[in-house]
Amino acid sequence: ILETRALNKWFGGLHVTGGVNFTLKTGEIHCLIGPNGAGKSTFFRLILGEHLPTSGAILFEGAEITREKPFQRIRRGISVKFQVPGIFKALSVRQNLQIALQHHQAAHSLAEEIDRLLEFLKLKDAERTLAGNLSHGQKQWLEIGMAIALKPRLLLLDEPTAGMTPDETFATGEMVQALNREGVSVLAVEHDMAFVRQIAQAVTVLHFGKIFAQGSIEEIVADERVAAIYLGEVHA
Ligand code: ATP
Ligand code: MG
Repeated sequence: ILETRALNKWFGGLHVTGGVNFTLKTGEIHCLIGPNGAGKSTFFRLILGEHLPTSGAILFEGAEITREKPFQRIRRGISVKFQVPGIFKALSVRQNLQIALQHHQAAHSLAEEIDRLLEFLKLKDAERTLAGNLSHGQKQWLEIGMAIALKPRLLLLDEPTAGMTPDETFATGEMVQALNREGVSVLAVEHDMAFVRQIAQAVTVLHFGKIFAQGSIEEIVADERVAAIYLGEVHA
């Protein structure tokens, strides 16, 4: 569903994305991991269109999107949940979802769809709560809700479980898997290896802006070269 070809990004003299050839298969949950500063967020922003690459190409469902604006990519079916909340804090949970859904849902079924989403996000009891008053984990779920309201075929998640309790993290994994069963492909940048183990069908390790290793989670955790770069980070 997504492909990058020889994707390069330089920030001044810094080569942050180093000729990455990456493929995300349709229907896959793919986790992107790597030490701090490996270039994960930069790669993610290139896919979103928040950064433009220095060279190389990005294809979504076979169409080249390399130079498209973020809104054009969203229109094509890419949606994103950011690390930094982009919800309306002064509005209720229900109002937030209504705003996100209204352009993508026929008016007669809007209320029903909001209810379905509230249930899915475990936010039914909080529907009247102002988004600003939600717990940290609930805010993250609402954000996921805002992203999936756009009915994407590819969902991008940058550290979706940051700051969550283990229970919340596990519940988030179940949400991602449920979405995936409905046909949504997922690319997730994640630090929490328990979460990666729970959801990943494929894992890519970035290191110094390049693909360092790729495979199933079992292959990645058994790879001593991968363990070594993480140890290097600890001792740095
Ligand atoms: P983390 O795990 O800490 O989130 P990361 O893998 O997401 O790290 P990036 O944020 O992509 O890494 O950063 C990769 C490198 O690029 C770092 O050396 C960073 O300082 C540099 N960098 C990132 N964004 C910019 C920018 N806008 N301008 C200049 N350098 C940048
Ligand atoms: Mg990052």
